[in-house]
Amino acid sequence: MRPKVYFFSLKKGDDRSRLGDGLRRILSLKGTLDFIKNDALVALKLSFGEKDNKGHLSADLIRPVVDSVLSLKAKPFLIETNTLYKGDRQNAVDHINLALRHGYGKLSIPIVIADGLRGEEGKEVSINGPLLKNARIARGALSADSLIGIAHATGHMLSSYGGAIKNIGMGLATRSGKQIQHSNTKPKVGRDKCTACRSCIEGCPSDAIIIRDDKAFIDEKKCVGCAECIVKCAFDAIGISWSEGSGNMQKKMSEYAFAVLKSKAGKSFFINFAIDITKDCDCMEKEGNIIAEDVGILASGDIVALDLATIDTINDRAGRDVFMEAYPSLDWRVQIEHACDIGLGSKDYELEMI
Ligand code: SF4
Ligand code: SF4
Repeated sequence: MRPKVYFFSLKKGDDRSRLGDGLRRILSLKGTLDFIKNDALVALKLSFGEKDNKGHLSADLIRPVVDSVLSLKAKPFLIETNTLYKGDRQNAVDHINLALRHGYGKLSIPIVIADGLRGEEGKEVSINGPLLKNARIARGALSADSLIGIAHATGHMLSSYGGAIKNIGMGLATRSGKQIQHSNTKPKVGRDKCTACRSCIEGCPSDAIIIRDDKAFIDEKKCVGCAECIVKCAFDAIGISWSEGSGNMQKKMSEYAFAVLKSKAGKSFFINFAIDITKDCDCMEKEGNIIAEDVGILASGDIVALDLATIDTINDRAGRDVFMEAYPSLDWRVQIEHACDIGLGSKDYELEMI
């Protein structure tokens, strides 16, 4: 049987406040949230956005999800992980403070940064995928009883499209897991910026950094790719190579989503908000240009069907492939095809209008 993707359509000029009713209707459909049991710890995965980027989903938009889970006498909490790069989401304290500044405190449910205070709380999950044998997943995500992914569908500078798969695969990886997805190469020190302050050396868990010729130097043989040194360096002297092809990054992202959902079979549901569809994702410093008009909310228990239906719906309404147009050298199909190949979900879906 083809997986259903529920679609609440928002037309040009429609009142945005209709989205709440639409989402409530989806969540009250028989079978949608049946997997949620009494007292279950239900992780609601979304991004809290970046400091100066207003593109993130507001607390009001996701309120119906919180209310629905509470009405089932379960215990919802917002879940996120530390970022790979420097900024206001690099540790749990800064991250939670950012979430509160962005208004998520009004939901009155806990916020959990699932990979610990500084990204140290991960667990290796065996997946035996075509590219990766194991994935490093935030421990808290694996411990949750069930999971609802709430993604903002946008363009993306490395995968041309980012939605439900990215929200789970990248969003619930530990910092080292994110590093593995982003690049095969280890961080490198920019000698021109390095002041030899030694902060990175003190923070490196593998003793992989030494001072050589008056600058920090990373021994790639010892480096485990945890990316801790990037956060430690106050001079932006350590960076990641983004040279790995988009294709490999997308495939690894799908394999990471597979690792997260391995323990959540039949215990997860996914929602894509296809509104304010920007060229770049909400992780960027500033929100990007709008590349397509709002289409509404799509939701499904099948993460692959959901992302494909979201892309199809956005592109159908635009009359062109807006993601390929924004990033001609990248192809979003890679993440969908690979996700399908590894059994993460189905490309064949049935769209049900709500
Ligand atoms: S990535 Fe981690 S292991 Fe590698 S040099 Fe940086 S801190 Fe050390
Ligand atoms: S923390 Fe940055 S500036 Fe300090 S030694 Fe390491 S690379 Fe150089």
